[in-house]
Amino acid sequence: MEGRTHPARLWRPLKDGAVQCRLCSHFCVVAPGGRGQCGVRENRARDGVGDFVTLVYGLPAAMNVDPVEKKPLHHFLPGTRTFSFGAMGCNMGCTFCQNASLSQPPRLGRGVTGHLAGPAELVDAALESGSKSISYTYSEPTIFFELVEDTAKLARTRGLKNILVTNGFMSAECLDACGPAETGLIQAANVDLKAFSEDFYRERCGAALAPVLKNLKHMRGLGWWLEVTTLLIPGLNDGADELKALAGFIASELGPDTPWHISRFHPDYKLLDRPVTPHESLLAARDTGRAAGLRFVYVGNASGPGFGDTLCPSCGKTVIRREGFRCAPCGVQGGTCLECGQGLPGVWA
Ligand code: SF4
Repeated sequence: MEGRTHPARLWRPLKDGAVQCRLCSHFCVVAPGGRGQCGVRENRARDGVGDFVTLVYGLPAAMNVDPVEKKPLHHFLPGTRTFSFGAMGCNMGCTFCQNASLSQPPRLGRGVTGHLAGPAELVDAALESGSKSISYTYSEPTIFFELVEDTAKLARTRGLKNILVTNGFMSAECLDACGPAETGLIQAANVDLKAFSEDFYRERCGAALAPVLKNLKHMRGLGWWLEVTTLLIPGLNDGADELKALAGFIASELGPDTPWHISRFHPDYKLLDRPVTPHESLLAARDTGRAAGLRFVYVGNASGPGFGDTLCPSCGKTVIRREGFRCAPCGVQGGTCLECGQGLPGVWA
């Protein structure tokens, strides 16, 4: 079903009915009648005056109740459910997108569809499902920001936390509108750090790396609980030097307690000429992360001994065992290691 249009936020009028969108780091200038790169924000100028609208307000296209481990977040209310939804569209055009049927059609000028559901219905559904949080996910939540903002505001008043699963390419204004974890809308984020090369972001995603790095530090400053994910693509972003630099950035700029999720690639969308990430590459990347000083490095989308387990960084005991998305705390209570009493970083209650 097609949705109703809704006033867009974070834009400014320009001359001759054009507008500039301020929501993400593309800062699209949109002529009357045109849409931004994401394909879901349109300039409905009238009488030479720009009027910017979103086409995806109240129109989630994918909805599920997921384990929070699936986002992935391993240190944010582990073992709980999170009500998850996303609308169509994205501000990136990654050739390896694993959710292309949801993210890419609007960028290609195709229709925008979904289920009619506004903030109140979404929050009611989250509470009925027994979830402790709402995750804005599946596609890029920046491009359905108005729905995120209104849903997250309501969710907070009803005791739910809010999670962004994002490519991190939003604008600083967008982050400031989300606000600090304590008093604002968002309490946690998993951010894709897709590579550590501007060439990769430009050629493979149609975006840029620098804003993502800046935004990660901005989110840290806002006090959000942060975890980072890198999809490891053979021959494209898995070079030893690149991974060393990427892991070094996380450790030095975001802190060694920031969990890093290394995710196995499988061929998808336009990137069909690369193999599934070999097991050895996943293990080598995990070693690189640990050597950089990261205390929590996880391997996802693959099975192997200890890939998803959380170990106490002080005594080395396994405190949470994970098999797929099943999570079994076995040595932690309230964020404290039962063996040695070490406090574990994260949000536990
Ligand atoms: S959200 Fe980003 S891609 Fe979409 S119109 Fe705004 S600046 Fe452009």
